[in-house]
Amino acid sequence: MTEKKKVFILGSTGSIGVNTLDVIRLHPEKFEVEGITINKNSDLLEEQIKEFNPKVVVIRNEKVADDVRERIPRNIELLIGEDGLIEATKNADYDILLSALVGFSGLQPTIEGIKRGKRIALANKETLVVAGEIITELSAKFKSEIIPVDSEHSAIFQCLVGEKHKEVKKLLLTASGGPFFKRTREELSNVSVSEALDHPNWNMGNKVTIDSASMMNKGLEMIEAHWLFNLPADKIDVIIHPQSIIHSMVEFIDGSIKAQMSQPDMRLPIQYALSFPDRLQNDFTSTSLTDITELSFFKPDFSKFECIKLAFDVLEEGGTAPCILNAANEVAVERFLNNKISFLEIPDLIKKALNGIDSAQKPSVETIIECDSLTRKYLKD
Ligand code: MN
Repeated sequence: MTEKKKVFILGSTGSIGVNTLDVIRLHPEKFEVEGITINKNSDLLEEQIKEFNPKVVVIRNEKVADDVRERIPRNIELLIGEDGLIEATKNADYDILLSALVGFSGLQPTIEGIKRGKRIALANKETLVVAGEIITELSAKFKSEIIPVDSEHSAIFQCLVGEKHKEVKKLLLTASGGPFFKRTREELSNVSVSEALDHPNWNMGNKVTIDSASMMNKGLEMIEAHWLFNLPADKIDVIIHPQSIIHSMVEFIDGSIKAQMSQPDMRLPIQYALSFPDRLQNDFTSTSLTDITELSFFKPDFSKFECIKLAFDVLEEGGTAPCILNAANEVAVERFLNNKISFLEIPDLIKKALNGIDSAQKPSVETIIECDSLTRKYLKD
């Protein structure tokens, strides 16, 4: 019998974390939970502790940690706050780090896993967006495999198995188009928060759902793909595919295009990131091509979805420009969710930050952290 892989989940109560635990639940002979981290959802944490019996728990929110401390079994190591996240990823005994924190906070704990040469199952796209250069250098240096969990990048990763990098002509990154794909720019000016949160195909957290509606998600994914697959922006095309059955494609120099197809279910790319190079049987809904009446494709309208254009711009500028874009987008999405700004003001706020803050080339992790907080301060009104 082969040994079970120990999985440490950064962000176990979020949508990716919950789906990861479901995958582990389906394959108890293959995987076990070494550690989990949460921000605030202590009710779900207590359930997860009972079921999965982790050795390490990190609670980021200190007040929540004080409230539940007494109810956490004494044999579990409890760590608290940002420092706790870093200490846990530095010292816990795991084989795979599933990195699924939301936003910028995933960067440093992920770097700790990379420095230990662990496999990183990467769901936190901001890590590569803000620090792609550092992350790819470190992962090469410490021989840490980064396996994407994001469905599009998992698709590309799967299409590239057995292929040569120099024979890739283009990555075709698919996008559902989100809930506003068919609306005009005028119609976008007064969309409500609940309309933006109503994604047609995927059930995800609030931040990524708003990013899907603004198509910033696809912009961030384009930057993510650039770093993961070492290809320039002009070799990455974004294609709208409303059915979300093809999760992305790769075109090769001979004109062949490979696509990965499946139901939109995050458990599949999560499972693949945990089990690669193996595939594991499961009971997920299979894809009946004869039931799918249509697979369609459209060019995205960059003038309507400005965010995606901004993402191409910052990738070209490089350095800390993607960090400014990412921080400004996080601020803007939060304001939109709190009804403080309108939907079309999201790209406006990002442009304000990009115009007002100088970017630096070849940044260190410290410079990136500074740039992130500077951007947030700059946008405080
Ligand atoms: Mn995605």
